[in-house]
Amino acid sequence: MDCIFCKIIEGAIPSKKVFENERVLAFQDIQPAAPVHILIIPKKHIPTMNDIEAEDTELIGELFAAARQIAKEQGIAEAGYRLINNVNSDGGQVVYHLHIHLLGGQKLGPLLA
Ligand code: 5GP
Repeated sequence: MDCIFCKIIEGAIPSKKVFENERVLAFQDIQPAAPVHILIIPKKHIPTMNDIEAEDTELIGELFAAARQIAKEQGIAEAGYRLINNVNSDGGQVVYHLHIHLLGGQKLGPLLA
């Protein structure tokens, strides 16, 4: 499968990991849009939010639990942060492996700016 994030999971493409367990991986975005910009992904290849199945419910919860933990570890939990999931073309999705962007470390602007 030709998926950049699957290759990052396998270690075939290097990444700066900040969190990992059996089901979830988080690593620094290669083109950070904020002082903290981390991508949180399931190790299971799910292309988009539209492809989530009932059996993935717990896994999706784990992504958010990881986000909460990482935000705390990065020291941005109290100041605040933003979680974004882009879906398909109009949503601005470029990599078709489900991921949550964790953005923070500064006062973020309006969502659609
Ligand atoms: P999307 O637009 O699909 O929501 O976001 C994809 C994100 O993946 C972008 O922010 C982009 O900078 C990041 N990205 C793309 N390729 C790589 C890569 O090889 N390594 C890392 N760490 N991030 C990547």
